[in-house]
Amino acid sequence: MLSVALDGPAGAGKSTIAKTLAQKFGFLYVDTGALYRAIGKYMLDHGKHPGDPAQVVPLLSSLSVELCYREDGQRVLVNGEDVTGQIRTQAVSAAASQVSAIKEVRDFLFSLQRELAQKHNVMMDGRDIGTVVLPQATVKIFLTASAEDRARRRYLDLQQKGDDTPYEEVLRTVIQRDYDDSHRSVAPLCQASDALLVDTTGETLETSLQRLEALILEQLEKKGERLP
Ligand code: C5P
Repeated sequence: MLSVALDGPAGAGKSTIAKTLAQKFGFLYVDTGALYRAIGKYMLDHGKHPGDPAQVVPLLSSLSVELCYREDGQRVLVNGEDVTGQIRTQAVSAAASQVSAIKEVRDFLFSLQRELAQKHNVMMDGRDIGTVVLPQATVKIFLTASAEDRARRRYLDLQQKGDDTPYEEVLRTVIQRDYDDSHRSVAPLCQASDALLVDTTGETLETSLQRLEALILEQLEKKGERLP
């Protein structure tokens, strides 16, 4: 099976790029952030503090998280309920970041991610795909952009969804989440030593897509692999 690991900080364009290229290449697109978001939301819904392992860990045994795939893309189910439409709020983003620092949460989601990559050619986006989940990934990319650029993109996304969070607030949370994600003790956000660094600061999405497509195809060819 072929796998492309696409890691990087929040708002670097990973999900749009991974989704588009996965479709183009005939790979399964796996948005691993949705898994952490689903658990973060579950903890908020149950009145638990998402950053407190003593409150979060006991609930994991009563929790099932699944990904399923439909025509319109990936859906995330928590105990059978489709929560895909409810996990993109600022509150859930913060909760996802908090639960993701808990080792037991990461262990809980590990095999689900691994199994998908064993059964399918995957384009998997996250924070620790190239370092922890798929250390043998065929191609590894670390995608980044300046915090201001990433906050601006996220701000525009939120506006489109009718969320009026001010830009300064989005920037503040982007910086905070970067800090938290890269300073946690378990699976911190960092570039794998064999990942290629791509910085999309100042680029249009179209340009980044073309660059990434060419890069991935070149890497696959270098490894003697072909698209299905
Ligand atoms: O990618 P997304 O912004 O949806 O991820 C939400 C949060 O989940 C991130 O801030 C990060 O803390 C966590 N995450 C992670 N490892 C992954 C994917 C996401 O820790 N592989």
